[in-house]
Amino acid sequence: MDDTHLREVLVAELQRSGVAEEPAIARAFAVVPRHRFVPEVLVDEAYADRAISIKSAGGETLASISQPSMLARMLELAHVTHGERILEVGTGSGYNAALLAELAGTDGFVATIDVEADLVERAHATLASCGYDRVRVVLGDGHAGFAPEAPYDRIIVSARATDITQAWWDQLREGGRIVVPLDIGVAGEYAVGFERNNGEMRSVGIVSCLFVPLRGEPERAPENIFARLPSVRYGGRPRPIREILAVPTTDASPEMLEHADIVVAQPITTFAVTWA
Ligand code: SAH
Repeated sequence: MDDTHLREVLVAELQRSGVAEEPAIARAFAVVPRHRFVPEVLVDEAYADRAISIKSAGGETLASISQPSMLARMLELAHVTHGERILEVGTGSGYNAALLAELAGTDGFVATIDVEADLVERAHATLASCGYDRVRVVLGDGHAGFAPEAPYDRIIVSARATDITQAWWDQLREGGRIVVPLDIGVAGEYAVGFERNNGEMRSVGIVSCLFVPLRGEPERAPENIFARLPSVRYGGRPRPIREILAVPTTDASPEMLEHADIVVAQPITTFAVTWA
C-alpha cells in the first residue's frame, strides 16, 4: 500500500473509534506523512494506532511518538483554528508539530521545544523536508515555555507534567487553551484540556492517558499551607472525573476543598478535582 492510502485507512479507523471526527483534524492526519517522522520502523508500522519509541536510554523511554488516537483526542481538546499561535512542549519526532501546523494554517504559528538536542535537530530536518519549515523548533526546557513568541492561543504539552508552570500561565492568553497530560496523584493520569479565564483554568475535556514524564525540575514556589493530597482511594483504580479547576496555588483557598472531591496543591497550581 502506498502511504497516502495508509493514511486514509488510519483516518477511517480513528473515525470508527469515534475520534478525528472534526474535518480539520481528519485532514491533518490524512496529509502529514507520519512515516517520515519515524524512519526507525517500516512504513505500514508507522500508520498503526500505536505509540513508537524514538529515544531510550538505560531501558527507559525518553521520547515516543504518541498513538494517533491519543493525539487526535488531545487535538480535539486543543480545538486549534486557522491563524492561531501555538506552543508545543516536547517536540520528539516533530509529528505533532506538523499536525498543529496544518491546523493553524500558514497564517498561524507553531513553536515546539524539546530538551534533547539530537531530537530537536532531527525534528527540524524532518519538518523542513516535509514542507513545514515555518515551524520554529527550539532547544530548551519547556517548563519555562518559550517567551520570545508568547502569548500563545494554545499550549500543548506532549509529556507528563505534575504542575502547570508559571511560564505556561504567563504565556497563555486569556481565553486560550492548554492541553496537558497531568499526573494528579491518586486521581490518576489524564490529558486535560483547560480554558483560561479570569485567573483560573477550567477543564473542557479529560481523557485517560500514559505519557513519558517531562524531565528536569519544574519551578519551585514556597510551600503552601493548604491541602496536601487527601488520602482518597477508589479500589486502586482511577475514577472518572467530571471537572478539574486549576488556580494559582497562591490564590487557592480552603473553600476549594468544600467543592471538590480531591485537591492537589502543587507549587504553582492547585487542582480541584470533582468525580463524575
Ligand atoms: N510530540 C512528540 C512526542 C513527544 S515525547 C511527537 O509528536 O513525536 C515527549 C518529549 O518530551 C520527548 O521528546 C522528550 O525529550 C521531551 N521532553 C522531556 N522533558 C522535557 C522538558 N523539560 N522540556 C521540553 N521537552 C521535554
